[in-house]
Order: sequence, then C-alpha cells, then structure tokens
Amino acid sequence: MPPLRKLVLFTAVCGALAIPAFSAPQAQPIGPGLYAYISDNDSSANSTFLVGEKGILVVDTGLNQQEGAQLLHAIREVSALPVQYIVNTHYHPDHQGGNSAVGPNATVISTGWTREHTVAMLNSLPASERGRFRPADLTFQQRITIHLEPYEADIYFPGKAHTSGDALVYFPHQKTIAMGDLFLNRSSPAMDQGSAKNWIEALDDVLKLPIEHVVPGHFELATKAELARFRNYLNDLYQQVYAMTEKGATLEQVKQGIHMQSYQDFRQYPKFEATFADNAATIYRQIKEQK
Ligand SMILES: [Zn+2]
Repeated sequence: MPPLRKLVLFTAVCGALAIPAFSAPQAQPIGPGLYAYISDNDSSANSTFLVGEKGILVVDTGLNQQEGAQLLHAIREVSALPVQYIVNTHYHPDHQGGNSAVGPNATVISTGWTREHTVAMLNSLPASERGRFRPADLTFQQRITIHLEPYEADIYFPGKAHTSGDALVYFPHQKTIAMGDLFLNRSSPAMDQGSAKNWIEALDDVLKLPIEHVVPGHFELATKAELARFRNYLNDLYQQVYAMTEKGATLEQVKQGIHMQSYQDFRQYPKFEATFADNAATIYRQIKEQK
C-alpha cells in the first residue's frame, strides 16, 4: 500500500517490531487447495496460497522477514510441500518484503514493470535492507498461467490501476481472485502511478468472472458484493471529480466539494495518502493530464 517515499520510515518502524509467533493469523480455507492469509498488521499485505500435488504457489509475502515467517508458519500448518512459486502483485514492500523468508528457492513471478521498479527500489536502499527482497525470476507482460496440478492460477495484467504494473491472480477451480491493492475491503486505497479510470474498468472486468471469494490486498476476506461496493466508491468519486473539473474547479474546490456520505465506514489512512481527499486529488491530476 505505501508509496515509495514512505518506504524508509516504514521499514524502520515495522522492522523493529518482533511479533510473537503465537499471535500469528491462521490460514483460512476458501476452496479446494486454496487458502487466504489475512494479515493482522494493517501495514503488511494479505496473502493467498494454493497447494497442489507437488508444491505451493503463494501470492504476496508480507512486509518483512517477520511477516514472511508468520505466513510460512501458517502455510506449514497446512502442508509440508515446497513453495515453488511466489507471485508479487506489485512492487510495494508490504507485498514482497517476505519473499526471502517464504520461498528462498521459489520462482518469483511479476510483471516486467514490477520487476523494474523493485530493482530501482532496491538500489535506493542500504545494502543491509535488501536481503528480504527477491526481484522476479520470471516476468510477463499480459498473462501467464501456472499449472499446479490439479489446479491452476491465471495471472494477468489488468492495465494501469493501483500502479502501472499490477498483477491479479484468478483461481478458476476455486472461483477466487487475489486482488493485490486493486481492492482494499472497506477502505480508501493508496494510489501510486496508475489510472483510476482504467482501475474502475479492471474492476468491472473482474466482476464479470464467476467469483465466490475475493482476497483484498489489505483487511478482511471479501465477497463479490464488497468488491462491487469498492468499485462503486471509485466510480462515484471519479464521476464527481470529473464533473467539477469540467466546470473549472480548482484542486482545493474538488477536495472540499466531494460527497462521500455513502462510504463513511471506509477506513482513512492519511499517512499512506489513502483518504477520500487524497484519492480525489489523484483523480483530479489524472484527468488534467489526459486533457
Ligand atoms: Zn500497494
């Protein structure tokens, strides 16, 4: 979730916290061979893992070594098979900081864009902080399917959204999708270099799929109805900002003029620039850039 510029402080704060193993979340079974791991730390992403006959595929690994170790512990409660694949939905550290802990020998998969930004991020970190990251071994541009017999995972780039290189992971046998930060349950999202307009279209495409469970990037496991509500939030906000921008409103007028009463239960995180006003400002800038 956090934009890059927050990384250093974020790592300093969260890296110092030792979390007792006994408080770790458990994996929740959500379909044949498939589990959701809902983090108990708002600053560390959720994960999803699929257990096949010979190995395991994990989507996102949490913020750091401790979070990755907790996730691996939850995986080991279910299966002793090797972690063969890790999919990182995007480059933010809270989604891939546990890569080394969860799968030191796994094949790491991401979009090419995510790999480029991960490498750039690593080059900006002190050498002592780089070890927990493992940039992708295998990258793709549009779509790749992993056959983890007897199941499969369809990994695809939905176009620019939360970042310019997100990946979504759809599990057709289990009618489940792992959304990365394209979806936070009952929360305003952080918006990196992406596209709110295409983000809404990407969510519309997801909502056409047969889906019973939705694993959000953060917060509680969701239903399709909750995903639809998040889509409606983004769309309402986009339409309001667009209408005001067409009338020549300034950024400040847009921030003051939005009406989000229908979404008062959405979490607001000013420290991650994840509030109604922050989202409105990002949308305003994107609309201006398109003109
Ligand atoms: Zn993110």
